[in-house]
Amino acid sequence: MTDPIPNFLDAAFSGDDRSPASVNLPILDQWQGYAEDKGFEIVARGPDRYHLHLRCERCGGTMICKIFTLRTAQPTCPHCLEARWRALCEAAGVTYLGRGDRPNYMRVLLPCGHETNRQQELLERVRRGATAIRCAVCLEDRLQAEARARGWSLIGDDPEGSQHYRLYRHDCGHRQRVALGNMVTGRFTCGGCSEGWTRDKSHLYMMRFVLRTGREAVKVGFSRDPVSRLRHQLITERDQDARLIRTVEVPTGHEAMAIEKALHTTLRQRHPEAVLDRAEFAGEVKVLSELYAARIEAEITALLDRIEVRLRRRARRREKRRLKRLRRRLAQSQAPACPAAEGSTLASRLPPAATDKLSPSDPG
Ligand SMILES: [Zn+2]
Ligand SMILES: [Zn+2]
Ligand SMILES: [Zn+2]
Repeated sequence: MTDPIPNFLDAAFSGDDRSPASVNLPILDQWQGYAEDKGFEIVARGPDRYHLHLRCERCGGTMICKIFTLRTAQPTCPHCLEARWRALCEAAGVTYLGRGDRPNYMRVLLPCGHETNRQQELLERVRRGATAIRCAVCLEDRLQAEARARGWSLIGDDPEGSQHYRLYRHDCGHRQRVALGNMVTGRFTCGGCSEGWTRDKSHLYMMRFVLRTGREAVKVGFSRDPVSRLRHQLITERDQDARLIRTVEVPTGHEAMAIEKALHTTLRQRHPEAVLDRAEFAGEVKVLSELYAARIEAEITALLDRIEVRLRRRARRREKRRLKRLRRRLAQSQAPACPAAEGSTLASRLPPAATDKLSPSDPG
């Protein structure tokens, strides 16, 4: 059991030890009696006729107390209370900083270095080991980092009020509530982009639009299906002048998203003046990322060319490595006492060209 610690904001105030503003009025014997019974001594009357300066018998500290409170209740010594709160905080593993923003709340410094207001009752439970203090700032930081790692941003609490969910925004712009655990494991899909999109093959694309003002604009993005993206998601009118002018295949949606992001960063840095003002195309093209002035189309094409070459080279390297691995396994499986059948099973999994090179040992 912990003894209840009364609220600081009761009728008791800490007095000024050096020069109590006293009033020259008599102190009734009866009051001294009350004070002694309750662990205090009356030092003076003041600062007005309704108050007294009391000295705490336990700690020697002084305080101002209403005469009414002294008569009718147990005054609380703020010095003793603060000492108890300090001790409580220490036992709960936090540092006491002062009174909190509400009655019965104290301001504390958490071990992580963040300050917070916590209820006395909570700290008592922490002291008993019944619960732990979680830092809201650290938690938010962690959740945000977990979300960023998966291409999402944390935007707020769960709109449905669950502690186990939060509201997130995907890099595609879609907002969705996601369970905290799922954000960590990635075992969920975005309702905005289609299911499994992060692992599926994707495309970078460049589209050209002629805006109603007659201005030509280009958009760079990624999509599993750029044609359908253009037709069904981007343009607002069926006869709008919009054309898909370039696509680059990317092995996964996840990678396509990362490349697209980097591409936008590059373009914004190199051509800040080519980024169209949103007002120019609002209501015509439904996009979240930038549209650029068509005059940088050639540069975008060059960047996409480079990306394509890089991806192809990498794909070739990966394919070579894959074949090498297969060949090694094949060689191992054909070592001294290898049954020929197993070799042929593996060999049959190689593409024709690779199989040819291996033909000497192929039993055929
Ligand atoms: Zn005291
Ligand atoms: Zn913290
Ligand atoms: Zn999405």
